[in-house]
Amino acid sequence: MTINRSDERQPGAHDRATAPASSLPSPLFRFQQGDFDVTVLSDGFIWIPDDILLSDGSAEQRASILPRLDARDGMVRPKTNIPLIRKGEDVVLIDIGAGHLYQPSDGMLADNLKRAEIDPSTVTKVVFSHAHPDHIWATLDEHGSLRYPNAEYYIGAAEWEFWMDPDYLTKMPPALHEFARGARRDLEAVKQCLVMLKAGDDVVTGLRALDTPGHTPGHLSFELAGGDGLLIAVDVANNEVVSFEHPDWRFGYDTIPELGVRTRRRLLDRAANERTKLLGYHWGYPGLGFAERHGEAFHFSPAI
Ligand SMILES: [Zn+2]
Repeated sequence: MTINRSDERQPGAHDRATAPASSLPSPLFRFQQGDFDVTVLSDGFIWIPDDILLSDGSAEQRASILPRLDARDGMVRPKTNIPLIRKGEDVVLIDIGAGHLYQPSDGMLADNLKRAEIDPSTVTKVVFSHAHPDHIWATLDEHGSLRYPNAEYYIGAAEWEFWMDPDYLTKMPPALHEFARGARRDLEAVKQCLVMLKAGDDVVTGLRALDTPGHTPGHLSFELAGGDGLLIAVDVANNEVVSFEHPDWRFGYDTIPELGVRTRRRLLDRAANERTKLLGYHWGYPGLGFAERHGEAFHFSPAI
């Protein structure tokens, strides 16, 4: 396995200002996709060093791209878009954010659920695309109780094995040990009601897991049937400018960056060929748009 050595820049909690309330999306974006009712909620945003996103870019490329990103002081501010999907009796969350445990600007999902008038106890399924802090660390509240007490939980079997590997701490650099402690804390907390997914499995009929490894070894994306379809890419393409226009640039937080590149190309190729709408976890809210082919690369075209 290739480990990206830029992990020394892996952020932990730091002292950036918290997100002002005005940065929360309003109104909440809701749409119908076939039989599914989708509301995109936000967990706020996180900060990542721009080197993590642009390390493969030349000085000129970086200088022309940075003004197009939400960047300041050497940091980019990826948003965190969380789809809440309703079908029949099911209320499904794809990832749940970081619950203020990762960075001060995350953890807004609880407030946004309130604004959407959704009681966390009514969530029937929580699906983890992967076990990074900005996707899973909100599992427990400040009292150590499950925020979604009545949900069944889902994760890729390969993702579970990656984080639970007894040799993780010796295989992975110390900068990533905190991530493993958090992932293990949260996965252990839901172990009794955890379903292991593999590619092709349906979470509910028509919401299907896609194998998209690279960002993490067991990363899953999701495909929603109905209408013209929807691909919930999650972290396959981390930024709607850089990942589309330079899909071959390695992303510094990918566990297996070369595999991440191949997976990104494969998903964006498919989305462009089929003209399927995409939803990205870290794109500008609500993170919905299309991949349009542009020479050897792509261009992100917002859906709204
Ligand atoms: Zn992420």
